[in-house]
Amino acid sequence: FPQISLSNLSVLVSTHKPLVLIFSLCPAKVNWPQAVSIDACIPGLSEAQTLNRGSICSRSHLRISLHRVKLPEGFDSLKKGGHSVSMWQQESLPWQVWAVAGLLVLLLGLYIFWMKRNDEAENSSEEDEEDQVLGNDLRWLLERIQWPVQDLQGGCEWAIHLMDNYTVYFGHVLSNSFYPVLQRAIGVGSAFEGWSPREQDVVYRVLIPMTPPRGHSFHLELDSAEHRHVRNFRVRVQLECTCSKEQKAEKMLCFLHHPEEELRENQDLSLLDTLCTDSYLDVHKTARWFYQLVRAVWPALPQSHSWHLTLLPSRRSCQIKVTNGEASFRIEMLFGVRRGYSDVFVSSQTREALTLSTTWPEAYNVAEVKFFKYIARQAPPDSLHLRCLQLFSRVQLGFGFSTYMVKTIVMHLLNTIPVSQWRRRYFLRRLGDINVNLRSCLEEKCLNHFIIGNRNLPQEISLPLDILSAEPPNLFHHLAQDPASHSQAMSEYQDLQHRLGGLW
Ligand SMILES: [Zn+2]
Repeated sequence: FPQISLSNLSVLVSTHKPLVLIFSLCPAKVNWPQAVSIDACIPGLSEAQTLNRGSICSRSHLRISLHRVKLPEGFDSLKKGGHSVSMWQQESLPWQVWAVAGLLVLLLGLYIFWMKRNDEAENSSEEDEEDQVLGNDLRWLLERIQWPVQDLQGGCEWAIHLMDNYTVYFGHVLSNSFYPVLQRAIGVGSAFEGWSPREQDVVYRVLIPMTPPRGHSFHLELDSAEHRHVRNFRVRVQLECTCSKEQKAEKMLCFLHHPEEELRENQDLSLLDTLCTDSYLDVHKTARWFYQLVRAVWPALPQSHSWHLTLLPSRRSCQIKVTNGEASFRIEMLFGVRRGYSDVFVSSQTREALTLSTTWPEAYNVAEVKFFKYIARQAPPDSLHLRCLQLFSRVQLGFGFSTYMVKTIVMHLLNTIPVSQWRRRYFLRRLGDINVNLRSCLEEKCLNHFIIGNRNLPQEISLPLDILSAEPPNLFHHLAQDPASHSQAMSEYQDLQHRLGGLW
């Protein structure tokens, strides 16, 4: 018997080599029959890594092998008189044989116990090994993910800080006016979700919630004349009576009950007369008003001392670029009206070029940012879910699939696959999942909207009842309607596979 001290034993156990341990304890002369040898069952047995990989297989094979083991000739020497193996069990056996058998049984029990106790650690070691196997692929891949030059988090904080300063001054400037009341800006879009489809020129997008000024109310009307797959709203502005005692104390004339002449002489125009078209809030007028406000307030902000403001053209938002010679931030301000107390807004943002100036499409970007923040809180520190999204959205650029489609697929996956399964070691698997999902969505011509009609969202995301109970719109509805678009999309998917070649 090899000399195994207690310390050696603990070293062997702690180095995850239980089978090696068993064999090292076996009498040197016991030769395992070739046909059923452990080596044959588990190639490269001496390698602990291989052992870990095939742990379940090796366990069952081990039992079989131990069962079938023949005592070789050398074993006879342990017995008096050189009896055959078949006689072995019937006669009184030397203590060494019992000791060997007992030791094997003991060690087998110990091994199985050890396997159960260390299942988790073993999985981890298995995955580490997988990491080694995939190491080269991953490195190759991760090196090719172009991250924004700018620090996204720092940029988001800078943009929100600027917007907070703006909000304070907006409050002062507009306090006695009848323009919409501007609330604190909410960061939305990819940068605030923690990723960016662009390498440079990251756009920090914010949504500025608007509430009605005194003596006014907003009424959101679903514009059913539009296509069914796009939910567009109009914001009807209505004057409200302010004759009550409390409101009289604000020294405001009631737009409904004071004579027109008195109103004209003593009070600013109502919102209906400034930013509306036919009683509906006008996106273009609102954007123009907002540009004036942003330019007028800028000199009062602390940022104006060291930064330069440039207004960029936009009809449905306010886009600015702020530079100081070294750094540059591009910020797009969208305006929105919150639907009740939910995380859904109607917003000035639109993807369609020809949208009426009184059309406010329903926007889910606040709910989506909330979803990504929820995932970030749950996810382990080495989670690569954002890198998966970043990589895939960049790889597919130039093909017919929009970034939003890829993001929707990833959000669905994030909502179904546990966050722990997005760690580094699962990177390629998750990329594969995105790819497989894209293919099946294309084949089925169906990709459900992530927010509308999704009853499995985290509880903290609040949706209006009609959104919660709605049928999820199909983002691939155009593929279902137009066979030519579908074959084009399938062909582009094949090209995309070509680009991804070798990964899956
Ligand atoms: Zn009144």
